[in-house]
Amino acid sequence: MQEIDSVCAYCGVGCDISATVEDNEIKSVFAKKEGTVSEGQLCVKGKYGFDFAQSPNRLPKVKIKTSFIQKNELFLPKALKDALYAYPNTDGYIYPDLQSAYALCAWKLKQITTQHGNFSFAAIGGARGNCESSYLLQKFTRKVINSPHIDNCARVCHAPTLKGMRSIIGEGAATNPFSDIKKTEFMIVIGSNTTEAHPIVANKMIKKVKEGVNLAVVDVREITLAKKAKYNCIIPHEANLLFLNMMAHTIITEALYDETFIAQRSSGFEAYKEEILSDPTANPDFFADVKGYEHLPIMIREIAREYASKKSLIFWGLGITEHLDGSYAAASICNLAVMTGNIGKEGAGLMPLRGQNNVQGTCDMGCLPYYDPDYQQPLIEGLKTPDMLNAMIDGEIKALFNMGEDIAHIHTNQNKIEKALQNLEFIVVNELFENEITKYADIVFGVKSAYEKTGVYVNAERRLHLSQPLINNDLPDDWEVIQGISKALESDKLDYHDSRDIWAEVQVKVPNRFSGASYEKLEQNRLQGLQWPIHEQETPVLHLSEFRTKDGLAHFRYKKWVKRGMVSELLADKRTDFYLTSGRVLEHYNNAAQTKESEKLLKRHREDVVLVSSEDASYFEGKEYIVLRSYYGKSNPLKFKITKKIKKGTLFVSFHHAKSHINFVFGDEADELTKTARFKSVKVRIE
Ligand code: SF4
Repeated sequence: MQEIDSVCAYCGVGCDISATVEDNEIKSVFAKKEGTVSEGQLCVKGKYGFDFAQSPNRLPKVKIKTSFIQKNELFLPKALKDALYAYPNTDGYIYPDLQSAYALCAWKLKQITTQHGNFSFAAIGGARGNCESSYLLQKFTRKVINSPHIDNCARVCHAPTLKGMRSIIGEGAATNPFSDIKKTEFMIVIGSNTTEAHPIVANKMIKKVKEGVNLAVVDVREITLAKKAKYNCIIPHEANLLFLNMMAHTIITEALYDETFIAQRSSGFEAYKEEILSDPTANPDFFADVKGYEHLPIMIREIAREYASKKSLIFWGLGITEHLDGSYAAASICNLAVMTGNIGKEGAGLMPLRGQNNVQGTCDMGCLPYYDPDYQQPLIEGLKTPDMLNAMIDGEIKALFNMGEDIAHIHTNQNKIEKALQNLEFIVVNELFENEITKYADIVFGVKSAYEKTGVYVNAERRLHLSQPLINNDLPDDWEVIQGISKALESDKLDYHDSRDIWAEVQVKVPNRFSGASYEKLEQNRLQGLQWPIHEQETPVLHLSEFRTKDGLAHFRYKKWVKRGMVSELLADKRTDFYLTSGRVLEHYNNAAQTKESEKLLKRHREDVVLVSSEDASYFEGKEYIVLRSYYGKSNPLKFKITKKIKKGTLFVSFHHAKSHINFVFGDEADELTKTARFKSVKVRIE
């Protein structure tokens, strides 16, 4: 029996793991006490969710739709056509050798880009791939195909965090290590169901609460963590920015801000202060007239006082970012930290909780339409995913490379996405299992999972872990598929021996973060990881003496909350319909890509269930299933559960199972600056 150390394949906490392996089979996964992130603990996904790698449902090396070959056979080079037709047609697919599949991809991409231009190609990466593959996907798109259209699934999660944080402090990443929870004096969690989505971080928070440190939980419903909180602050839908502005208003009117820190480390405070004081919605008393939330002025002021007077950390998740004002809310969180001096020191700072294991790393690699690697300006800015989808409908984008991101499940307005995907001439997908997007794909490459390969992952606290294979298989890694197609295109731009070789180039191309992060150093710190920037040494706390802006200062910016939706209705005492929010459950992770293949996890959660307020119970009487219908579409029939944890008129549902059709209900409304969709609030009727 072997024992192999690596990193968890699931969430952005990025726990170090150790596995026992026998005869190329993972027997168990556990954490060692010396692991910096895990500290010897894993959640159920980390501990039990490893069997997906050994599932009999894994995709084969490659499969190609026979209908795709038939559609193109008139124009296919004879040798390639003969090679492909030599394989038997099995249920509408052939299962050829990799070289023939690469050749077909290259031929089709050449045909499309010759006819429609290079910009007719787009690529969307997933944040569960490692840095090496993400780096290569953007390089392939930009340098081999010469298209600027590269994006990743940060578009549906933390793109607003990046935007908002950079606008104030010049860097869109967590400022401190998770271990700073041990050093903090107060914690605010806003828009993050931490016990379900980032359980090991939640454990650290709960431990600290038990030691006597206070916690404020701000959400639209009572989440599990709220039981441990001094302040269980339930706010109406779409009121994050309102809450944050009220925090700032209290800190300013009660002169709780840190004058010295503001004077030495920031600019624009006076103008910001003036704007906030002249905005009547920023006064916490605004809530006195919002039916059902009249107690909030007192609570918000208490939270603001405790936050400003103590060494405090703020944690947030998609409950902040997936809104019309997600980027502005992330920026407002930064304003709070800077005005109170709660940044640039141990135990105080800003902690965006990234969803997947490599959201941070995928963005660092430049898998974004507006950033090259290391957040440099690209020559041409590409389209963001929602704009790519419009361009597919308009016929401007004809070919899509989709790597580890099921856009036919996890994006909003699925009726529209169906239309966009059906309009494409060519879809290539790298995946582990069949899912919604593979149904549309012409060519599907089955690739190695995180437990079968070597590569770097960057967790939500900027910590790099180098994974190593727990088991072996002969599927290609994502980057090998990309390179295979590139070589078939006769490009010499991608020519790497292994992932170490790619990482050596990443260190040169991302010098501000990774110049000193060699594989050797990461191997020596396998269970500890290292936090970027890593030059001579790692950097646990950012912004110690200056911010990462051009002038080294933080720049205050105010954004007024725009009155709308539920708050407007409550003010007018005119409630109609229901407001729905969505989120994760502990056992699953996004589209359950891996977790649904783990029997131990699947048996704990097999279907998405709608949570309904006990105050609305009479409305649901006599119903066994309900359908959620919005302006955009409807869900499939869903079970529901009555609970006291949800406020009247609001609903919650998880979105893990494709058959539920939850994302058919959410629409095109999105964060104004990044187009991250408003997954966290939509008005629905019950049928
Ligand atoms: S908290 Fe996240 S990283 Fe840690 S074991 Fe659970 S899923 Fe894995």
